[in-house]
This record gives sequence, C-alpha cells and structure tokens, in this order.
Amino acid sequence: MAERLSSSQGDLKDNYRTVVVGSGYGGAVTAARLAEHGQPVCLLERGREFPVGTFPDTLGNLAHNVRGSKKPLGMFDYYLMRDIDVLKGCGLGGGSLVNAGVAIRPDPEVFADPRWPRRYRELAASGEIWKYYQKAETMLAAKQHPRGLQLTKVQKIKEVADTLRDGRFGLMNICVNFDVDGRNHVGVEQKPCIDCGDCITGCNVGAKNTLYMNYLPYARQRGAEIFTQVEVRRIAAAPGGGYTVTWRHNRDDRLGEERTLSARNVVLSAGTLGSTEILLRSVRERGLTASSKLGFGFSGNGDYLGLAYNSPQRINVLGYGNHPDSPRAKVKPGPTIVSGIQYDRSQPVGQRLTLQDFTAFPSGLVNTFRHTLGGLAALGTHPHLGVGEWLAKLWRVAKDQVFWTPDGAANHSLVYLVMALDSSCGSMQLGDDDKLTVVWDDVLEDPVYEKAKDALLVHARTLGATFAQLGRPNIWTRKDNLVTAHPLGGCHVGDDADRGVVDTAGRVFDGQGGVHHGLYVVDGSLVPMALGVNPLNTISALAEHIVEGMLAALR
Ligand SMILES: Cc1cc2nc3c(=O)[nH]c(=O)nc-3n(C[C@H](O)[C@H](O)[C@H](O)COP(=O)(O)OP(=O)(O)OC[C@H]3O[C@@H](n4cnc5c(N)ncnc54)[C@H](O)[C@@H]3O)c2cc1C
Ligand code: SF4
Repeated sequence: MAERLSSSQGDLKDNYRTVVVGSGYGGAVTAARLAEHGQPVCLLERGREFPVGTFPDTLGNLAHNVRGSKKPLGMFDYYLMRDIDVLKGCGLGGGSLVNAGVAIRPDPEVFADPRWPRRYRELAASGEIWKYYQKAETMLAAKQHPRGLQLTKVQKIKEVADTLRDGRFGLMNICVNFDVDGRNHVGVEQKPCIDCGDCITGCNVGAKNTLYMNYLPYARQRGAEIFTQVEVRRIAAAPGGGYTVTWRHNRDDRLGEERTLSARNVVLSAGTLGSTEILLRSVRERGLTASSKLGFGFSGNGDYLGLAYNSPQRINVLGYGNHPDSPRAKVKPGPTIVSGIQYDRSQPVGQRLTLQDFTAFPSGLVNTFRHTLGGLAALGTHPHLGVGEWLAKLWRVAKDQVFWTPDGAANHSLVYLVMALDSSCGSMQLGDDDKLTVVWDDVLEDPVYEKAKDALLVHARTLGATFAQLGRPNIWTRKDNLVTAHPLGGCHVGDDADRGVVDTAGRVFDGQGGVHHGLYVVDGSLVPMALGVNPLNTISALAEHIVEGMLAALR
C-alpha cells in the first residue's frame, strides 16, 4: 500500500507559519503551491485519510460513512435544510473523494456579472483568467473519456441533443485516468479506469484523479505537513499578531477536547459551509470582526436532479466497483458523468442550462436502487404506453425486486444533473444550537428549476421512461426539496466590505475599512454567484490565482 500522506496527531506542533484548514480544491491547491515555493505549511483536515482500496463499497460501510455528531469522520456529509439540502465530502481530498470529477469552464459571460469584483471581471475580459484554469487542469489531468461515445447512457443523451435547436452535445473533461498504468505526473501509482461506476462512493481502482492523486501528494513531497481528524472550530486574532486556532481531534465515534495552536497566517479552505461556519463562530465567540455580508450570497449552482426510470431501452448503469472478475462486470456503466448538453448558448447567460448524465449506480447502492427507485418514481410523470408496454415495465420492476439482473428496471434508468444560474440569494446562519443552516425562503420559486424540469421531461419522454425529481419530500413546503452538491458563496469576493467578505486576494475584510492581514479564504465560498457548470475547476483556478498573490505577500 502507498505511503500515507498524513502525519500522526502527536506530531502536531503549537506554532506554525501558515495553517491551511481543509483539503478540498481550495486547500490542496494552496498547500501545494505554498510548499512548492518553500513556504512551511501545515494542512488540517477534519475527515480521515482514505488510501486507494479503502473506500466503502457495501451498504453497511456506506451507511457507516454518513457523517453525524456520533460519526464525525463519515465521508458523506448530508445537511438537511429547510429549503435546499447540501451534499458534501469529508476526508483528505474533500469533495474530490466523492465527486464525479467533471472539470469544465464556465461561459466567459458569467464573469461579466457585477457580482464579481472588478479585478476578476477584467481578468476574464482579457482572457488572463484561463491561464489559471489551464494550470489546474494540467495538475488534475482532466480529459474526455476516450471510449465515452460507446457508453449507452452517452448515446441516449446525444440522441436528444441531436433533436435540439439550441443544444450542444459534448463529452465532458473529467478527472479520471484512462492511460497511466504506473506512476503519474507527481509520482503516484495509478491504474486506468475500468468503467465500474463507483466514482461517487470513492474509486477503489485508483483511476479517479482525486486531490489525493495530485495536489496533496505534491504538497507532501515538498514538505507540507498534513494532519487528518483535526477539526478547526474557530480562530481569534492573537495579541502579538497572527491567529489562535482552536481545534479538536475527532475519533470514529466521538468529538475530541478543544485545544489551540498559533499561526501567523491562516487559510480557511473548509468549503462553502465549513469556512463560513468557522468565520461566523469566530465572529460570535471570539469577537473577530468581518463584513456584514458574511453568510450571504449562498448558491446551489442551480442544481436540479431528475430520474428517468424504467425505460424500455436498456441503459447499463449498474456499477460493479473494483470487482472486474464479478459476473456483474459485464455491465459497464462508465464513470458517474461522461457527457452533457449545453442548452441555449445563443440566449442570455441567465437562461442557459447545462445537463449531464449523472448515472452510474455505485456498486454498494445498486441493490438499494433496485428496490427503491420504483417507489420513488411512482408519483412521477408517466409516459403514454399501451397495455403490453405497461406489462413489460411491471415485469422489469418485479425482476429488480428478486435478483440482480441487467434486465431490471434500474438498469433501464438514467439520472440527470442540471445546472443553471440560480438567484444565489440564500444565506447561511449559525443557530443558537451552534449548527449551520441555509435559509432561502423562495428558492423553489426560481424559474430555472421549472426550465430544468421541462428539459428533463423531454429526455424521459424520449426514453419512454417515468420522470421524477430527485429530492426529499419537505413537510414545511409540501414540495420536494432541492439538493445541491455544488454549494457556493457565503464568503464571496467583493471590491470592498460592502460588497463582499474577502478581497480579490482572498484576504478577509475586517469590516472596519481594512483586511485581517494573514487571514484568507480560498474555496467554493469565495464564488459570488452560481456558475451554471460544475465548480471544481473554477475553485481550483481561483485558488491558483489567489495563492500567486499570497506567495508575493509572504515573501
Ligand atoms: C456527489 C458529488 C458529486 C460532485 N461532482 C462534481 C463534479 O463532477 N465536478 C465539480 O466541479 N464538482 C463536483 N462536486 C462538487 C465539488 O466536489 C465541490 O464543489 C468541491 O469539492 C468544493 O471544493 P472546496 O475547496 O470548496 O471544498 P471541499 O472540497 O468541500 O473541501 C473542504 C474540506 O474541508 C474540510 N473541513 C470542513 N470543515 C472543516 C473544519 N472545521 N476543520 C477542518 N477541516 C474542515 C472538509 O472535510 C473537506 O475535506 C460534486 C460534489 C458531490 C458531493
Ligand atoms: S468508473 Fe470506476 S475505475 Fe473509473 S474512475 Fe470511476 S470509480 Fe474509478
């Protein structure tokens, strides 16, 4: 087994030059580039390290990995909110451990929106911004699936795209390795993708280009110290300069005692919810000053998930995990997302949609999907079918209840992810119970979701499938909740403290006309509005940009 990246907790010192909190895209890029330039850096991650081969792939292990106060190290972090639920990853590598790895660029027009500070609008207008995307894409080794067009789910997406007046089909750039069988560009052992479909429960093959395969080992090789199971609670300005960081070492089933360390510089990269929560708590309990915009501008990136269930056409979406010799491996779903359609690119940017095939049922969840999707779809929109077709449909559902079969209803289904520019008007608040909540009263009224639904109904109809939105029924709104895997905002960049929480260099505004020197935010919380496409590439590019300035300031 490859060497672990994290050090033992006993080696954690009391004093550091720079502490990075969180190991997602923002944190990993920052730690890697600081270390590359000889800066001493310590990275603290609240989750555990998952070497390749240790990701959960049974229902029991997956259930054990749902994070909660009694399971603080769980890899899946699901926030049940009143209006919009949030799904996140927790572990060394952050969201990269459980995401689909799509690394694409937003439309340039997105950056023309006045919610972006002037400096970023200029970077985009001059085209200079793409240099940072390029840097990130090289490190993440994102590319198209070389055999993508052979996958049935991709062919089904393309069939619909071919009928659209204003819809562009394409294979997505994904952070998946298809060719290296040995050491990759940073010397980490990788295997080529086997199309097993387990990307969102963790790649046990070692083919997904998570941060654990690139930026994080690169940081470690250049001297960064990495500690896992260390959760940062709050920070306070230290009397002699720098910051006091309060942290606790969590175990499998319990939270640790609070302790402190000092750091001259602190980079918050705990993700949209994590960084906002730490700052909100630091303001409330430790009197750190900040912009009144802290917590605002939350976006779900217009995420809308829909299911086309039980088509007469077999789609091949059942995952088999790292078990290439299993008879189930004859169904090859491919990585979670392979292709997509860009809708309405001739329209103003706010009216555009991006749709992707979000379908490979991870092996550990195949049986759950076989047994439950029928119930979920029962209240959905059904196609017009003759008696014979209905009987065939019911027969596929029945087969799924009895045994694994490629002929069952689940394997004749497709899940879609749609992204769009939502209004980005949610807010995050820290309640009296010390829990973070997202408040967004009228989110379900945003017309982008109706548009997303209409687009998905066309796909479901073309497949002759039943359509259902994927979301939890909500007893307050009596509708299905939205769920986002792409939370953004909360510490968004702005020209000044009246318009943002951090400046374009990532420094936290003190709310009194200046910035907190040495205190940065670098992650998805920076992004001031929905991007309308998967955000990891943009978060990484912004991190590449900010760390460049940080290095100049630290010299
Ligand atoms: C199922 C799924 C699929 C996705 N697919 C894609 C995709 O295909 N393409 C794409 O662009 N995006 C995708 N995403 C979203 C993407 O992964 C996130 O946007 C991205 O990871 C955010 O990066 P980040 O740096 O903001 O923070 P994160 O990646 O969220 O990392 C934050 C890290 O900080 C840690 N942390 C939090 N609080 C603390 C604390 N108090 N102390 C210490 N550590 C802390 C967390 O455990 C986490 O590891 C997906 C997400 C999910 C859940
Ligand atoms: S499809 Fe399987 S092998 Fe390929 S990246 Fe996803 S989990 Fe890894």
